[in-house]
Amino acid sequence: MKAVEIISNDFAQGGFTSGQNGIWTRNEPFDPPTDDYTALSRRIGVPLSRIIRPYQASGDNVATVTAEYGGSGVIKDNELKKVDGLVTAEKGLVLSIIAADCVPVYLMERQAGVIGLLHCGWRSAAGELPHNGVEAMKKLGASPAEIQLIIGPHICAECYEIGEEIRTEYAKAFNDKELEALFAVRDKSLYLSLTKALQLKAEAEGILREKISAVNECTCHDKFYYSYRRGDRGIQNLAYLMINKH
Ligand SMILES: [Zn+2]
Repeated sequence: MKAVEIISNDFAQGGFTSGQNGIWTRNEPFDPPTDDYTALSRRIGVPLSRIIRPYQASGDNVATVTAEYGGSGVIKDNELKKVDGLVTAEKGLVLSIIAADCVPVYLMERQAGVIGLLHCGWRSAAGELPHNGVEAMKKLGASPAEIQLIIGPHICAECYEIGEEIRTEYAKAFNDKELEALFAVRDKSLYLSLTKALQLKAEAEGILREKISAVNECTCHDKFYYSYRRGDRGIQNLAYLMINKH
């Protein structure tokens, strides 16, 4: 079990954890909350009815959520289907997403009082998810230049060996100079830096370079996290983020 703090200040708090079992998904809408969610709720002092988890689909959809969504996917049916990004201006409402090597992206705009949390797989990292997340925050009054962005723990560029088809896909989204920075070849194998891909995507949205940071942890290297690449199936880590109540 591992739990790290990603952000903790007078505006927001957020973290990343494997939980005890890595089980965040229930099979049926009437099933009880998973032990991991119950433990998280106690630890951060927020009731389960104020925590939200969408059904993720490694796509580009972002949902703006309010208090009425509280408990979705945690203690009640999940209306948030095929959603990989959550945005809110509601205080004390916990956004959460599951990830096992994919990238959790934490977004905070304290002046506007808006946050966002994105689940970026390789496809979304090169796709529209970062753009849609920032756009949804802008609708709530956020300015890109004021957004602080933190790239959470995910599979690192040393571990993330990929096939040529991914570079072909990335060539549609990035120019040659960018592709050179994103990909590395070692022993005839191709590796991708999702960190760099998201840094470029964030800057393209108007987020300032000095407001972008990355947590130097790898879900594949670190055996205390769950990792799809290392063979974990059906168990994940959880990323969460909320605006403080006071
Ligand atoms: Zn690694």
